[in-house]
Amino acid sequence: MELLKQRILQDGRCYPGGILKVDSFINHQMDPMLLYKVAEEFIRRFEGEHINKIVTIEASGIAPAIMVGYILQLPVVFVKKKQPKTMENMLSTVVHSFTKDRDYTVCISNNFLTADDHILFIDDFLAFGNAAMGMLDLAKQAGATISGMGFIIEKAFQDGGKALRESGIHVESLAIIDNLDDCKITIR
Ligand code: 5GP
Repeated sequence: MELLKQRILQDGRCYPGGILKVDSFINHQMDPMLLYKVAEEFIRRFEGEHINKIVTIEASGIAPAIMVGYILQLPVVFVKKKQPKTMENMLSTVVHSFTKDRDYTVCISNNFLTADDHILFIDDFLAFGNAAMGMLDLAKQAGATISGMGFIIEKAFQDGGKALRESGIHVESLAIIDNLDDCKITIR
């Protein structure tokens, strides 16, 4: 997606350890006009897939996911990173955070992720695929079907995308970063 690539090159910042900071338009301040176009592109790429629900993980996946849900007129559910005491029929799994370098338990209510669901999972970044693997585990527990997984930015040098595609999942990433060596952003 050309508009997104140009924005990453213009406003993205590189940090040691293969981290790309995009907090001026995705992760802290958000650009709704860009995110709307991101949502339209996801919808174009997943056209033909049977989808009845959008699922994401808090926090940065929520904005693009709700744009997709709004355009498609579908419900949006976000996986929570803290377990609320009041959650009913909770499904949970452990995810390793690459940016925070720790494990945490994420959860979703089985009321909102069921065996009838065909979900499109949306997230901001795909790195090692830990969050995506957590989503696969939650979907498996619920008996839900993953119709596709869409990421705004994929860091191809961290191999999560390779593993997901090899397991047969329809993965779409709107900007693919080939490397961040010497703090230079190389986009495919
Ligand atoms: P994964 O689970 O695929 O290893 O990493 C994806 C998650 O980690 C994303 O949800 C995102 O929050 C975070 N993440 C991974 N790499 C980066 C990065 O380079 N920049 C930012 N801002 N977040 C990242």
